[in-house]
Amino acid sequence: MHFIANRVGRQHQATIDRVHAALGPAAEIIEDEIRGRIGCLQLAVANTSDMWRMVVDAHRPIFGRQDARLWSREQGDAFGTATITSSGVLVVVNAQACKGRQVEIDKTLLHELTHAAQFNRPGARDLLMRSLANNYGITPMTEAEAAAANRQVDADEREAERMERHHRQLAKSIA
Ligand SMILES: [Zn+2]
Repeated sequence: MHFIANRVGRQHQATIDRVHAALGPAAEIIEDEIRGRIGCLQLAVANTSDMWRMVVDAHRPIFGRQDARLWSREQGDAFGTATITSSGVLVVVNAQACKGRQVEIDKTLLHELTHAAQFNRPGARDLLMRSLANNYGITPMTEAEAAAANRQVDADEREAERMERHHRQLAKSIA
């Protein structure tokens, strides 16, 4: 089940339209390529500050009240982001960063949907929960745990970047 929320105005209509058109085909490509399921997904189109606010809102029921500046400091003006919620996965496309850049919208969807599918792999959600609890200063990880978590993040990131290469296939399936 995929649900899309628009958090931006008409000046971002082209991005909203592209996200709506590309989500289904992009999800199919990713589930095919990495042989995984994206699962229950909430997707939003938002500006930069709302994107990080949404991440923190998604984390609040899991971890308690948190500070969006933690994310905006580290990742600032990213094209998009993906994270876990209490019931599934949240992907946000940054309409400000993607404005007028259709190829970046397509690449961002492929990239973040890959992360969504990665979160559904056995053990992935637990590891991410522990990493987030560490980042938020709730439950510190040991050095060995943090190193293992970082290796996983790096491997996931490489896989997500590889999936961006399917943007031409995605564009063809929409046109
Ligand atoms: Zn990534």
